[in-house]
Amino acid sequence: MRYLFIDRDGTLIEEPPDTQQIDSYEKLRLLPGVISTLKWAQQVGGYQLVMITNQDGLGTASFPDEAFWGPQRLLLDILASEGITWAGIHIDRSPAASPSFYRKPSPLLLLPYVTGAIDKERSFVIGDRVSDMELACRLRLRGLWLPNPLHPRGLPPAIAPFVEEVPSWAEIRRVLESVLFTTRVHRRTRETDVCLNLTLYGRGATQIHTGIGFLDHMLTLLGYHAGWDLTLEAKGDLHVDSHHTVEDVAIALGQALRNIQADKRGIHRYGQSAEASTPIWRALPMDESLALVAVDLSGRGYAHWEVALSEGVGSIAPALWKHFFETLAREGHFTLHLWARGAEGHHMVEALFKGLGRALREAFRRSYDQPTVPSTKGVL
Ligand SMILES: [Mg+2]
Repeated sequence: MRYLFIDRDGTLIEEPPDTQQIDSYEKLRLLPGVISTLKWAQQVGGYQLVMITNQDGLGTASFPDEAFWGPQRLLLDILASEGITWAGIHIDRSPAASPSFYRKPSPLLLLPYVTGAIDKERSFVIGDRVSDMELACRLRLRGLWLPNPLHPRGLPPAIAPFVEEVPSWAEIRRVLESVLFTTRVHRRTRETDVCLNLTLYGRGATQIHTGIGFLDHMLTLLGYHAGWDLTLEAKGDLHVDSHHTVEDVAIALGQALRNIQADKRGIHRYGQSAEASTPIWRALPMDESLALVAVDLSGRGYAHWEVALSEGVGSIAPALWKHFFETLAREGHFTLHLWARGAEGHHMVEALFKGLGRALREAFRRSYDQPTVPSTKGVL
């Protein structure tokens, strides 16, 4: 079970600078991105949502129950209208001056969750105060911290390793996508040793070292245009030739793509060279060269190669380039069509890699409006 333990004031909704209490409907304002991120987290990410909030002196004359529950119910109704529901809502009413045993950062209210079946690697505490991050530390979970200017305070060094500072809910979604859709592959044979780490929804940041400069360049382009964070280290028997290294890089990368397709809910499935409304714009030009790349995350490995490459590029022969893409599609369990024409082999191969990146980016795009597997069979 994956959980998001989420603070309320200053995290889900704005905190009024004067009273720091949401005690009227006029003060209820959601933070940007809350609804879309929670909806995605619940429907695509499979997260259970738990609200945990300190409401100082709730039920006393300074903060009567009726002033709190109206805005609270409205908040829950707004979220429910988008299908966002809560596995638990926990409110501590004690004042900060005389805290109860249950008041954050006490973890007591959350113990039933964290002592049960919980995926601690992918569960988070989300909050705007250092006390929220102290709660994360006590639960031995990672904290996502939306710093609130109303409560300027540095993180104590002891809890800093548990905390990632995030500027917005959009960034929270990126972090969740990163932890849900990251895979590592290490493949060692007598001919090569390939180790890679792939984050599907990343920032296009790559570190590639295969010992073949041109292949590094191509994989860098692929990762950038696919929007992946990709680190890849390959040590191969280049004293023989480049065949084993090129082939085994394709195998490892294909296995990573296969791993990451374990959950296909909400994916777009199909992708072409670029995102546009008319087919002609989906071609990917590179100076005099033109490439068309189409993929289907079908679960079946297949490649069709129609590339007029007459000479080796980057010390890699045309047949080996074809083998690279065929291996990638077979190991990655996806259908791949490649077409390219041009006068310069470098440009043609480059256009193919860029086009593949764009096509895979589109195919892996996810929609929380339809968090189902896009097939009449119900499975891919
Ligand atoms: Mg707060």
